[in-house]
Amino acid sequence: MSKYIGPVCKLCRREGVKLFLKGNRCESDKCAIERRPKPPGIHGARRRKMTGYGLQLREKQKLKRKYGLLEKQFHHTFVVAEKMKGITGLNLLQLLERRIDNLVFRVGLANSRRQARQMVKHGWFFVNGRKVDLPGFTLKEEDVLSVKPSDERNARLKEIRELTSRRERPEWLLFDENVFETKIARYPVKDEIDASIQEQLIVELYSR
Ligand code: SF4
Repeated sequence: MSKYIGPVCKLCRREGVKLFLKGNRCESDKCAIERRPKPPGIHGARRRKMTGYGLQLREKQKLKRKYGLLEKQFHHTFVVAEKMKGITGLNLLQLLERRIDNLVFRVGLANSRRQARQMVKHGWFFVNGRKVDLPGFTLKEEDVLSVKPSDERNARLKEIRELTSRRERPEWLLFDENVFETKIARYPVKDEIDASIQEQLIVELYSR
């Protein structure tokens, strides 16, 4: 499966927000958006009035980049969200949150979603006792995410947990620190995902 391999800090600067794509560096004063808070490129500092379409496009790009998806993968997730019962925008956000790579990141077993994705691909995790190595695999309520046992892996995860210990743990996930086991207690509400995302703009964009 293809992935974006260009410079990631440029993506944050382009969207004007921290997308947390570089692990611990994002929390430090080396963060590019803190040092150069303007869009990349020679005309980056120029102020432009955004059209309605521009606002919708930027919101979609922001969400897509935050979760590390390419256009085709993101659009596919939107199509699935549209077919589900309920509000399409919230369905989309919940589907993204329920991805296995995101869950690994959320509970602090990876420094970034990118690192989580690599760990999943390398077969580190089980869902309900079965190995899952697809980063886009979506978990359901009551599903249990666990780590394939290995002393080396446990030691590495302990190191990462220490680095990510300051990160807020979502209340909708039950995490057992001793065995690195995560259970989805319920699906997250909008404010638990990202209150700043205007998902309605993305729905409008794809409905054009
Ligand atoms: Fe974005 Fe992290 Fe780079 Fe800062 S350090 S610009 S948050 S990827």
